[in-house]
Amino acid sequence: MPPPYATPPGILWAPWRNAYLRRSGPRRCIFCEAVTRGPRADRATQVVYRGREVFAILNRYPYNNGHLMVVPYRHVGTLAQVRASEHAELWQVITRMTEELTGLIRPQGFNIGVNIGRAAGAGILGHLHFHVVPRWLGDTNFMTAAGHTKVISESLDELHRQLTARLRRRPR
Ligand SMILES: [Zn+2]
Repeated sequence: MPPPYATPPGILWAPWRNAYLRRSGPRRCIFCEAVTRGPRADRATQVVYRGREVFAILNRYPYNNGHLMVVPYRHVGTLAQVRASEHAELWQVITRMTEELTGLIRPQGFNIGVNIGRAAGAGILGHLHFHVVPRWLGDTNFMTAAGHTKVISESLDELHRQLTARLRRRPR
């Protein structure tokens, strides 16, 4: 099925995200929920790493295999509200995740970014999160052809298992 709109070069077409983006009703904060449920729910919430002030969580509606988010524990929505110590740890953990993902799934590149506000495309408003999206040459074509929600969700559990095991084996 072709995309219903022109996709700019380098931007992944991820049709399964539509169900998520179109959900109506009051939106709870999935990040605060993952923090509140604690480490014992990390498999269910797809949290892969808990640091001092930030954590990392797999994206359930990934743009690509290995798409995760690095998030401050505190529910803050702007860069200005992020403390210096949180900023420092955010970049440490983003850097580490690129290293571990590189070791695990061998991407050829990364998109790293933050969407602030609805106009910028933020899916979860009010709780800042930094996307880490592994990229491969030609992955836009691959994901268009092979992007089925079921396949993605099954591989998410396996990625969670492998990535958490790897992070445990290589503590910092
Ligand atoms: Zn929150």
